[in-house]
Amino acid sequence: MEINLPDSVYELNRCFKDHGYSLYLVGGAVRDQLIGRENDDYDFTTDALPGEMKSIFRRTIDTGIRHGTVTILFKGGHYEVTTFRTEGEYHDGRHPESVSFVRNLEEDLKRRDFTINALSYDIENGKVIDLHGGIEDLKRGIIRAIGNPYERFEEDALRMLRAFRFSSRLGFRIDDDTLSAIRELKGRIELVSAERVREELVKIITSPNPRIGIEGMRETGLLEILLPELGRTIGIEQLGYHSEDVYEHSLLALEAARDLDSSKETRLAALFHDLGKPERAEWRNSRYSFIGHEKVSEKIAREIMARLKFSNREIDKTALLVREHMFLYSPEWSDSAVRRFIMRVGEENLAELFDLAISDRRATLNGPKDSELLISDLKRRIEVALREKSALKISDLRINGKDLKEAGIPEGKIYRKILLYLLDSVVDDPRMNERDLLIQSALRFFQEDLASQGQS
Ligand code: ATP
Ligand code: MG
Repeated sequence: MEINLPDSVYELNRCFKDHGYSLYLVGGAVRDQLIGRENDDYDFTTDALPGEMKSIFRRTIDTGIRHGTVTILFKGGHYEVTTFRTEGEYHDGRHPESVSFVRNLEEDLKRRDFTINALSYDIENGKVIDLHGGIEDLKRGIIRAIGNPYERFEEDALRMLRAFRFSSRLGFRIDDDTLSAIRELKGRIELVSAERVREELVKIITSPNPRIGIEGMRETGLLEILLPELGRTIGIEQLGYHSEDVYEHSLLALEAARDLDSSKETRLAALFHDLGKPERAEWRNSRYSFIGHEKVSEKIAREIMARLKFSNREIDKTALLVREHMFLYSPEWSDSAVRRFIMRVGEENLAELFDLAISDRRATLNGPKDSELLISDLKRRIEVALREKSALKISDLRINGKDLKEAGIPEGKIYRKILLYLLDSVVDDPRMNERDLLIQSALRFFQEDLASQGQS
C-alpha cells in the first residue's frame, strides 16, 4: 500500500509549506492507489483560503470559488485544491446550503460521504491519515457511510447513488446499515437534480460491474424511482430463444457490451434495447413474440434520456442504435442492400451497432450460434463497399445543382428530389454514377415530374 506522486506534486506541496500552509491529497486518488489502482485525478485539500492560494500562485482559475475550489496551474500541470470546509445546514437534500471554511482537516473529512473516500495523504510526511476506518473497509471491500448513514443521506440524497457507483466500480459490497438507510430514504433521490443523477447513473452503467449497481438499485427500490421502465421488464418471459427474462437479458447485454469495451451510448443502448418488449408482448404459436418492439424501445429510451437531461447528440445516437438493433443480415443480401444498410445506419454508427448486435446475441443464452459469423460477413462486405467508394450520399454523385442548372432545369425544391432520386439509382447500380448518364436521367425525371403535375 503505497502512494506514488509525480515530482511536481512535491514541489506544489513545498510552495504551500513555504507559505505556512499544509496540503493533503484526498478522495479517489488516495483510495484507488491504496488498492493498487491507477488514479491520477488528484483532489487536494488545504488550510489556505482561496484568496491566499491566489496570492501565492500566479496562475489560477476560480473553478468553484464559492465552494473553495481553485485550480492552480503549476509546472505544466493543473491541480484542483479546495480549502478545508464543513458543509453547513442541509435543508433540502439537494445541495449544501452554505459552506464554511475551517482550518483543520478533521472537520473536512467528517463531511465526506464514505469511509473509503475520507482517506487523506499527508504529502509532507508521507503518511496516510485514516480517521474513519477507511483502510479497514478498503481491505474488506465495504462501502460504509461516515457516521450515521441516515444523516449523510438526508444531507445529500445523491450519496445513495454514489454508494452504488463505488460498489459497481470497485466490486465492493454496501454495509448493512448503509443499505438499510438507502432503502428507507430512497424517495429523497427525487430531490436531486437530473444532471447529478445522470452523472452517477452513467458511471454505474459504464463501470466494470454494472450488474452490482443496477441490482443494488433494484433491491433498494431506487430503480423503480429512477428507471421504472427497466423495472417493468422484470418477469417478462421470452419463451423461444431466450431462457431469461427481459430484465436479465438487458443486464447480460450490458455486460457483453462492457466486455467489448463499447462506447457509453452502446452500453446505454444495450440496457435499453428491449424496453419496448413488455408493451409488445403477444402470445403466438406457443411462444411470445415482440413485433415492432424496437420502435417502442426507441421511444422509451428517448423519454428516459430526455428526463435525465442527456444531450441531443447522446440521445440521437443511443436512439438510433436501439431502433436499428434488429437488423437481420443474410448472405443473400445484394450489394445494393448492403449500401442501403450503410446509408440508413450512417457510416459513423456502424461499429457501435455491431457491438450492440453482438452483445444482444451473446446475451441470448439459447439463441442461434452462427449469428456472429453473419455479422463478420456483413462487416467484410461493408468494408468492400466503402473501399470501392460507392456513392452513399448526395455529395458522392458526379453531378450537383450547378450541372442541373446548366442542363436547363429551373432551380427549386425539385433539385433535392432529383438528386435523391439519382442517388437511389446509383446505390442500386454504381455504374450509373457517370455525368452524362446522370444528366439524362435527371432530365427524364424532371419531365415526368412536370407531366405528372400537369395531370393533377
Ligand atoms: P473518482 O475517481 O470517480 O473521481 P472520487 O472519490 O474522487 O472518485 P469525486 O466525485 O471526484 O469522487 O469526489 C472527490 C471526493 O469528494 C470524494 O472522494 C469524497 O470524499 C468527496 N465527495 C464528493 N461528492 C460528495 C458528496 N456528494 N458528499 C460527500 N462527499 C463527497
Ligand atoms: Mg475525483
